[in-house]
Amino acid sequence: MADNNNLIVDLPYHINYRHSYGKVSPYFVGLKNKKILGTICRNKEKHRSKTELLFLPPRADCPECMAEIKEWVDLTDNEFRLYTYTIAYFASESFLNQVPYILINVEVVGYDTSYSKLTSTLVINEQGEINIKPEEIRIGMKIKPKFRDVPLESITANSVYFVPAEKP
Ligand SMILES: [Zn+2]
Repeated sequence: MADNNNLIVDLPYHINYRHSYGKVSPYFVGLKNKKILGTICRNKEKHRSKTELLFLPPRADCPECMAEIKEWVDLTDNEFRLYTYTIAYFASESFLNQVPYILINVEVVGYDTSYSKLTSTLVINEQGEINIKPEEIRIGMKIKPKFRDVPLESITANSVYFVPAEKP
């Protein structure tokens, strides 16, 4: 395609991007260890709802009382329910091979849900798990987390997903 008057060549290009998970690093290390960790702010009296606030995904600072949050809670064995969902038929490049997929918000039962509706995906046809049809998905249904076994350096928010925990 190149000629003497219009030289065009392909040059491979690669960079390493050094990414820091910062103060929420324990969340991602937790995913590697098949745990779901959130942060919790117990300054009840300073919150609008006058309750403790759970953050999932975690936050390092409380948006209501502005305090730095240092307390982590292990939610892995907690009850999780489907808060809401949508079925996505299009996605960014890294998720295109998964469409259609079910994008969900997760309710962590027993906590104020203002800041803890984790965004994840629901898999309804996984071998060895409860399988349901898309039309059987119900808001409020019990769901449970599953973890992809990936190296720590490849951990992302997508390393946890959910499956039905009960028959419809
Ligand atoms: Zn707070």
